[in-house]
Amino acid sequence: MRYAVLSDIHGNLPALQAVLEQLGSVDAIWCLGDIVGYGADPSGCVDLLRKTAKVTVQGNHDLACATGEGLSCFNSDAARACRWTKDALSQPDRAYLASLPSLATPDGITLAHGSPSDPTWEYVASPRVAALCFGAFGTPMCMVGHTHVPAVFRQATDGRVSEIRPGESAVSLTGGRFIINPGSVGQPRDGNPAAAYAVLDTSAETVAFVRVRYPVTETQRRILAARLPARLATRLSYGA
Ligand code: ZN
Repeated sequence: MRYAVLSDIHGNLPALQAVLEQLGSVDAIWCLGDIVGYGADPSGCVDLLRKTAKVTVQGNHDLACATGEGLSCFNSDAARACRWTKDALSQPDRAYLASLPSLATPDGITLAHGSPSDPTWEYVASPRVAALCFGAFGTPMCMVGHTHVPAVFRQATDGRVSEIRPGESAVSLTGGRFIINPGSVGQPRDGNPAAAYAVLDTSAETVAFVRVRYPVTETQRRILAARLPARLATRLSYGA
């Protein structure tokens, strides 16, 4: 089976559309949350993902924008964008985001926004944190988002955890257990402004990391037109 794994769309509709157009044929699309927050098209992104994603888990921005929960943990730009998003979403959209599960296990693979131990909030950004997380899920693989940086953490059969830096070629998923982060569709933070997603191939036992260029200036125009913080537009030029 081939799964397209998308995370951290953050209301960036041009980026989401570019990714969906580029996908080609996959057996299912999974979404690791943060559909909304930061960007100017929260409803458009919710609509499109409800139509296309087979499984979606809830991100911290989805929760905060739908219910206000956790808003106090956000920096001022994120909090401002979150309040704007809450008003921009319809009541059914907010109800949908509030209803999303924080964890899912489709086809024997664990999905979480942050981490398997703290699905909504924890960042898996180092082998040290990853090592603590391998005990928190029972499947061979866990997919997470939240950091906006593509990553693979591998726990070898002797228990040691290492990080594999994703590159151009697909990463082999044999000889251990894995925590995989596809990066962010709508607000990459790894220095590459192109939208990021991953294709997990369970037959080939590989994960490929894909980048898609999209009209960044159009997303920036919409953010500024919505009077969202200008920094949320400028950072998209740098993938920062
Ligand atoms: Zn996010």
